[in-house]
Amino acid sequence: MTDSPLLPVNDALNRILSDFAPLPAEPVDLFNAAGRVLAQDVVSEFDLPPFDNSSMDGFAVHAADRPLSDDGAPVVVKVIGDIPAGVQPSLSLLPGQAARIMTGAALPEGADCVVPVEDTDFPYRESRVLPETIRITRFPAAGVNVRPHGQDALAHQPILRSGQVLTPPAVALLATLGLAEVKVHRLPRVAILSTGDELVKPGQPLPPGHIYESNSWMISGLAAQAGALPLQLGVSPDQPDAIRQRLNQAIDAGVDLILTSAGVSVGVYDYVRQVIEEDGQLNLWRVNMRPGKPLAYGSYRGTPLMGLPGNPVSAYVGFVVFAGPAIQRMAGLPAQPRNLRRARLEHDVNSDGRESYLRVQVRSGPDGLSAALVAHQGSGNLLSIVRANALLIIPSGVKSLPAGSEVDIWLLADSYSEVGA
Ligand code: AMP
Ligand code: MG
Repeated sequence: MTDSPLLPVNDALNRILSDFAPLPAEPVDLFNAAGRVLAQDVVSEFDLPPFDNSSMDGFAVHAADRPLSDDGAPVVVKVIGDIPAGVQPSLSLLPGQAARIMTGAALPEGADCVVPVEDTDFPYRESRVLPETIRITRFPAAGVNVRPHGQDALAHQPILRSGQVLTPPAVALLATLGLAEVKVHRLPRVAILSTGDELVKPGQPLPPGHIYESNSWMISGLAAQAGALPLQLGVSPDQPDAIRQRLNQAIDAGVDLILTSAGVSVGVYDYVRQVIEEDGQLNLWRVNMRPGKPLAYGSYRGTPLMGLPGNPVSAYVGFVVFAGPAIQRMAGLPAQPRNLRRARLEHDVNSDGRESYLRVQVRSGPDGLSAALVAHQGSGNLLSIVRANALLIIPSGVKSLPAGSEVDIWLLADSYSEVGA
């Protein structure tokens, strides 16, 4: 199998994605709705706002009482009632009449505009006393200071769509429609297992020849960012039975996807692939990419399993290229294209002919974006990702690019360093 041709990245991605579909819907209450993905269209049953209401504290009046010649002379009208918010007015205005009205209160019959208190000789918002008459110094035109029903949305129109992420304002919109719960896609549950005899949990002493385990922390964060609930399976030594035992925990927990790291290369102690082949099915192994070639994908006891390479940068690239899109699909999100830009290389770059994902800093200057490699590009070196704000994609078959070449760069969503001047 070692000699089989490497699978093109896009073929591998398509084969992987064809195994995933949006997870079923479940109800969620408003308190837990933010960040979830809608699994239904939402149609408003009524207009928003539902009734004509005042946008000011003032007096509801009839625009026909406005003087024809705008000579600045005040208009005197009779105040026949008081309408606080939350009251359905029973009165009806005749010509020459007004009703005191508060912001958000329903407009009474006959009124079609609102004079703010400050445009009258009764500018007292707090007064409980109702004046008998008011003098209006600036008379509004019809519709002024009125929020008509349906201004925001009309009844029976879809206003949120399935596949949309519920942002906090979208949750507020659901509340405005009176919906206490809504259907969202179930969150993908993703189990994460690190393998390797050399790995030590942070916080413990580090024996000689060991390293601290880092992949699981990165992958669980990336999985959560992609919309999953991560389940940490911990670290397994390089022993098939120990690996199986932890994978079985993931099966018992009913996860939707297992992500392992390391143990998929061609080393003597690389057992993850062997376990997949014995207790599941290996669908693909070895992709034409750099870093990340030894990526394995298949299933373990019927659950999809992606074996990411062990080197942290390879695991990162494997995640963003393959696992992230699979999780997003399960989460019910529409396919999200990569955030690509064109940039000019600041220096020569060499590759080995595989599709390469190199870590770059992208800067914007007067002539557009430019990109330069950051830190040491070794696939074990996390600083190269931490300091990068984009991945430079070199197509397969290309072995060198001179300075000044126009290249594709993929802006990283989780980059803390902005593309700046
Ligand atoms: P392997 O795929 O097992 O050959 O591992 C490749 C490289 O990645 C080795 O240098 C490992 O020590 C390193 N590595 C594997 N797993 C982890 C991990 N979880 N955290 C940090 N480094 C790792
Ligand atoms: Mg290993």
